[in-house]
Amino acid sequence: MEHLRFEDMNLSPEICQAVLDMGFEEATPIQSQAISVVMEGRDVIGQSQTGTGKTAAFGIPCLERIDPEDRRLQALILCPTRELAIQVSEEFRKLLKYRDNIRVLPIYGGQPIDRQILALKKGAQVVIGTPGRVIDHMRRRTLKTDSVQMMILDEADEMLDMGFREDIETILVKIPREHQTLLFSATLSPEILDITKRFQQDPVFIKIVRKELTVPNIEQYYFDVKEKRKLDALTRLIDMYNPNLAMVFCNTKKRVDDLTELLQGRGYFAEGLHGDLKQAQRDKVMQKFRNGTIEILVATDVAARGIDVDDIDIVVNYDIPQDEEYYVHRIGRTGRAGKAGKAFTFCVGKEIYKLRDIMRFTKTKILQQKLPTLSDVEEMKTTLFLEKVKETITEGHLTKYIHLVDRLMEEDFTSIDVAAALLKLQLANINSDDIDAIDDINFNGTEAYGGSGEKMVRLFLNAGKKNKIRTKDIVGAIANEAGVPGKALGAIDLFDTYSFVDVPREFVQDVLYGMKNAKIKNKKVRVEIAGKMKR
Ligand code: ADP
Ligand code: MG
Repeated sequence: MEHLRFEDMNLSPEICQAVLDMGFEEATPIQSQAISVVMEGRDVIGQSQTGTGKTAAFGIPCLERIDPEDRRLQALILCPTRELAIQVSEEFRKLLKYRDNIRVLPIYGGQPIDRQILALKKGAQVVIGTPGRVIDHMRRRTLKTDSVQMMILDEADEMLDMGFREDIETILVKIPREHQTLLFSATLSPEILDITKRFQQDPVFIKIVRKELTVPNIEQYYFDVKEKRKLDALTRLIDMYNPNLAMVFCNTKKRVDDLTELLQGRGYFAEGLHGDLKQAQRDKVMQKFRNGTIEILVATDVAARGIDVDDIDIVVNYDIPQDEEYYVHRIGRTGRAGKAGKAFTFCVGKEIYKLRDIMRFTKTKILQQKLPTLSDVEEMKTTLFLEKVKETITEGHLTKYIHLVDRLMEEDFTSIDVAAALLKLQLANINSDDIDAIDDINFNGTEAYGGSGEKMVRLFLNAGKKNKIRTKDIVGAIANEAGVPGKALGAIDLFDTYSFVDVPREFVQDVLYGMKNAKIKNKKVRVEIAGKMKR
């Protein structure tokens, strides 16, 4: 039982919904093990590394055990610093989103004591404070501890490191005999064990050990990006490396949904995968992924577990993973079957600390890289194209084309002239669309791709929103029926009963022909040229 679902934990509907709203998809190991034990009323020593969700591990059961009818102080939580006290009370407030009858109050040094006294007078069932300030209030009798039923020491190791041992003991001695005592910490020293022996009764010891992690041998890079620029960064990477299959990880279901929609809007074949999807939907996505109809799979860690696809060229950590174990699982998706894979991680500002943690624990180097510039993307595409040219030469069967070159040479052109001119034509073709697409930073939806100007032809479809058709349905149908990749399409405009889609001139015939007997969402659609060329 590594990870439990919050829905399976016998939580009240209000708290459970609040947790889901926070974007937590499943409980972390310390939460999976601690929550039920704390709810039973047992004393607990919980040990688990930093960042593994210890706050909710005690916060959820603590709030479930509070009696809202009783206005007196019921839970007292000690934290080492004012920042942590604030953080913990913020997490508690989020957990109380659907409960307004429990009052949580942080008290810490540095804040005017008068204001805290007033706030305490109004009554709070949960107080979260630093040891010094808590003692201060206990002495003034502004904090009455005789009704406390739950005492929590958060980040106990840090508190002892900061010299709070005496203060903690002073407080613990003053709490009446009958109560539950919880202690959470990243590390456990003999000093901590001493305290637990004195103040806990028959505690349940929960220790989450870090797993040995072997990191696959693949190239790993990170980019320092702003949140707002992540989408651009991602599409640029996709355009640059042109992967058959890319897997993109987000930390929450909502992030997966949002990103998938944005990518689809830009014409990429993207699908999202997360825990809210029904099995049938998942199967459908996976099937598309396997047969290559999807180029980008956006997923949460939970959804990605158990997926077995070998051919992933790149993995992108759109959100930096919660812990290093997730990181290793994520990047392990690429570079399988002897292929060279790449893993990219987006890192926003202070997240660099998390990244350093990941490097430390996984003993790997993740190198910083600059995002590819437009000319990098162009250069890469050119290189890929030249590779293809070489392949084509090796494959042979060129007689027909050699005759064409001969014809031009009879007109006194050299073979080099001919080759250069063909490359110019071809490369201009490859690159211009993409430049339109990525140059425009403010683009949204599909407009960027409409920028190819007069090369686009506007097609009319006799179906629209009323037929429950969405942009991605049109993109998908054109890809399936006409073999035209979504990236090549321009703007798609949906109206109630009809839609328009911009198609590059060279694909128009393919689309008209391919869509002849096509159905979208079970409706037979008619496609025709919308009258005039766009722009
Ligand atoms: P710790 O106290 O163990 O260092 P925190 O309680 O501060 O860890 O949690 C670290 C981060 O992880 C917080 O941003 C928290 O909101 C988030 N988090 C906690 N539990 C989960 C979960 N089950 N799923 C996703 N994120 C979580
Ligand atoms: Mg903590």
